[in-house]
Amino acid sequence: MAPRLKPGGVGQYFGCEGMVEVETSTCAHCQKMTDIPNRRKMQEVVDICRACMKLICLDCAGKPCVPIMKRIEAQEQAYYRRQQLEKLMRS
Ligand SMILES: [Zn+2]
Ligand SMILES: [Zn+2]
Repeated sequence: MAPRLKPGGVGQYFGCEGMVEVETSTCAHCQKMTDIPNRRKMQEVVDICRACMKLICLDCAGKPCVPIMKRIEAQEQAYYRRQQLEKLMRS
């Protein structure tokens, strides 16, 4: 059996027919979770970033690629720079 392509995760909900499994996709840019009702609707609720080839939400579609790791690095650099500046001010 060929491995099934998983969009990101599986969410579980209690529906009127009991436990309903809903596949979810985590946006690679803003980490927003998007429920995927079914495979055919997948392209309507999520998009693929052409820069990092990851699934992204429709809010991030059409915006420049911002992988979460790059955003964290930028925050760390800004924090480091602020610390260096504070050291200079104190001396
Ligand atoms: Zn997003
Ligand atoms: Zn991207």
